[in-house]
Amino acid sequence: MYKILDDKHPFLRVKTKLVKFITDDIRDICKNMQETMLEAEGLGLAANQVGIDACIIVLELDNFKGAMINPRILKKSDKIYHLEEGCLSIPGINVDTNNRAKDIKVEFTDTEGVVKKLKFKGLDAVVIQHEIDHLLGILMTDYLEENND
Ligand code: ZN
Repeated sequence: MYKILDDKHPFLRVKTKLVKFITDDIRDICKNMQETMLEAEGLGLAANQVGIDACIIVLELDNFKGAMINPRILKKSDKIYHLEEGCLSIPGINVDTNNRAKDIKVEFTDTEGVVKKLKFKGLDAVVIQHEIDHLLGILMTDYLEENND
């Protein structure tokens, strides 16, 4: 099990490295991240939230459970989905970023090395956008600061 870092930790601002090879080490990281997420009762977790510089997220959604390696968003709807989202690195705060697409199409590699393209909507789409933001060093609270400028 990993320790979840809070938003003051510099690792939350790291743009994570792409995973080149899906090895047993990578599969172990995915498994440990998943256990950490479930223990914390989160819907998603990004590798840099537990101090690992790798482009990996794990998810516990209605329509997807498991790891996405090197995930990226291929398509976003213009329609915004409003939701007060939370973050395991920022406990006790919920934020509507006003910025989450309602429908997305994501490409990622699974733990067997197979590249997949899947569509998500609503809550699932928001969680995936939140976690992919983490991999880019972006936090949900950043959107609030932007709005206040
Ligand atoms: Zn988060």
